[in-house]
Amino acid sequence: MTTTATAYHFANVSASPFVGVDVCRQARLTLPNDADRPLFDHDLWDFTHVIGLPVQMALHERRFDFTAIIDPGWRLVVKELVLAMLAPRHPAVALLPRAYRTPLHLRSCSARLNELTRLFAWLGQREISTLAHLGTADCEAYLAHRRFVLDDDGAVVGEQSPGVRRAAAQAVIDLIDYRKLFTADRVPPGLRPWGGASASAVAEMSSGRTENKTAPVPNETLQPMLAAALHLITVLGPHAVTLHRQVCETDQVSAITAAGLHHSAPTAIADIKAVLADYVAAGIALPMIEDHDIEPRLAAGWAADDPLLPVATGVLARQAGYTQLWARWLPTLRGPFLEAVAATGVKKQFAREADEAPTANGSGTVPWTLPLHRSQAVALIGIVRTAAIIVLAAVSGMRASELMELRVGCRCPIEEPIPGLRRFRIASKVVKGQPLGGTDDEWVVIEQAHQAVETLEQLHDDPVDGALLLGRFDFYTRYKWFRSWVNSPTGQRLGLAPIPNGRVTLRKLRRTLALEMAYRPGGVLATKIHLKHIAVATTEGYASRPGGAQAELLAEVNKHEADRNLELILAEFQNYQQGVLPTGPGARSLTEFFASIDEMPEPSTAPAPKTQRSDRDILNLLTKRAKTLHIGPANFCWFTDPSRALCLKLAGTPTADRPLVGMCDSARCPQATHHPCHRPVWAEHAERTRTFLGNLGTTRRTEHARLQADYDRAMRVVAEIDAATTNPGEGPA
Ligand code: SF4
Repeated sequence: MTTTATAYHFANVSASPFVGVDVCRQARLTLPNDADRPLFDHDLWDFTHVIGLPVQMALHERRFDFTAIIDPGWRLVVKELVLAMLAPRHPAVALLPRAYRTPLHLRSCSARLNELTRLFAWLGQREISTLAHLGTADCEAYLAHRRFVLDDDGAVVGEQSPGVRRAAAQAVIDLIDYRKLFTADRVPPGLRPWGGASASAVAEMSSGRTENKTAPVPNETLQPMLAAALHLITVLGPHAVTLHRQVCETDQVSAITAAGLHHSAPTAIADIKAVLADYVAAGIALPMIEDHDIEPRLAAGWAADDPLLPVATGVLARQAGYTQLWARWLPTLRGPFLEAVAATGVKKQFAREADEAPTANGSGTVPWTLPLHRSQAVALIGIVRTAAIIVLAAVSGMRASELMELRVGCRCPIEEPIPGLRRFRIASKVVKGQPLGGTDDEWVVIEQAHQAVETLEQLHDDPVDGALLLGRFDFYTRYKWFRSWVNSPTGQRLGLAPIPNGRVTLRKLRRTLALEMAYRPGGVLATKIHLKHIAVATTEGYASRPGGAQAELLAEVNKHEADRNLELILAEFQNYQQGVLPTGPGARSLTEFFASIDEMPEPSTAPAPKTQRSDRDILNLLTKRAKTLHIGPANFCWFTDPSRALCLKLAGTPTADRPLVGMCDSARCPQATHHPCHRPVWAEHAERTRTFLGNLGTTRRTEHARLQADYDRAMRVVAEIDAATTNPGEGPA
């Protein structure tokens, strides 16, 4: 294990430029006046109360615990690094050439801290006592350590995601980029693992070069899931709200935490008897204990056939004003209890006489729920809340961070700009890519989403205006519970179609909505606006149209290019027919091609009855050749054979599928032709070269020879073009 003595190589703690620094002030994070302010010297930086942190940010991400890094020197290194990322304008950081110039978000810093903690623990296990001994092989070994998932025997059984690999590589790269900042230990100056590649490159991340990788929710899952969620909101929602109110009211009286309960009193027996008498008088069954409480009673010596076994004696005691029904009271109360049980029976506490509700499959009506214990009632309310989240997420496409920022009262007033056409909006915050605190925004939604928010507000435990509507939630777990409930006998009783297994996430729901929207007319733009993407390219990725707009533009450009090429080749063909021939190394090949077209039989003399020749036919014949045409500044390039392309030979890429026009040497390449339209370029080039030649001193013989060759070549091309242009009729006639 690394020790303090071995880790300090450059300086002690007091040499750090951050000693005594107020972390939040330096990072420009705002704290309430009465909050504790983390100092650099602390080993725990608590950002819990920083104003504007997203609701989605977990508590553990808000507390930076450096004590997990055992070695004090390395702990100092990590603290310096994290503060440098939070406060890039600090004079000690601003000087570093490869330091970040914009502050990292606390979540990013938290992730960096976690990875660095892992890295230093790993270094300790390898008995590397100082960063100065870190080599390229160690960096690669750490990446491999993080990359592969091993079984108990050390065999590779899987691979981590590119994100994990990138984090691992980034930890090493950060130690290199900020090495001059560190006062306790530093990596060696020449360390340059992975050839200096970026962390994303090292991790082989596609980085948005392909379409969005989040798969949409399959239709066979989406349909029953949404149908169940909508049924729960629209049909069962009002009943669930009533149930929620009953649970809250009951809790105020009979929960262990209810206010005003007494431990005991001389009148306790009489008070409980009075409660029992009320039950008997009203003909209401006594409350039943939860199933999981039966076992402890049996273990405590209750008889399995005791009529009082299922009675929730504690609930009755609390209804009488006492915290518990103590065992010493039971002998006295047994008689009244037995009488009450005989008279009214024992039943689960909630939804004893549930209203009828239509089933989801239209088979009729059934009680919307069977009688429930309290925990079952709370669970059912939770299922309805999950249904509301599903509807909201599926039809609004809101990110998890945006859903978590929803607050009670977020439903905007319903607008009706045109009679009968109502617009529903909900307000939340966009967090992703926004400054701390997020940016207020609104989402236009359909009525069901609006209704889902209303249901959530009604199911809220404390629905004061501005309270978080959902807070942080784990959709993965909630969805699993929701699916289990729908697929259970309870869901089947309500006529809900079973939901197939398969993971559904908020991202998948957002992707599904994006696809649904984007494939409608004008859908990409609508999706971009609705999902609040910063760039259309992101929306195109969501819509499985990588490079969508760019691809459309490119296709358009290609079409224009093809049309232009066809016009050019037709013009040159007509020139050929007029006797104006191409020149240059590729002229012969082109002339032969033109001749092959020109010599085709006239329709009148053709043996085949279908032979026709018109401009359209000629264009068709020319089209294939036109596809090989590339336009150079001083020539046409007929790129028919890559192996003959001089530019590709010079570039060492003989198998490329496009010429390198920028390297074109058209006077020597067998695929180049010159035409009258190129004459001005060559003439100007010759003229300029001649001017240069005239200005060259006599001592510069090499330069003179090169320019002279250049000039001669330009003049030769001009002469060839002139000869081909001024002697029409000597060609194909
Ligand atoms: S050298 Fe010029 S003409 Fe020859 S293939 Fe390359 S670009 Fe085309």
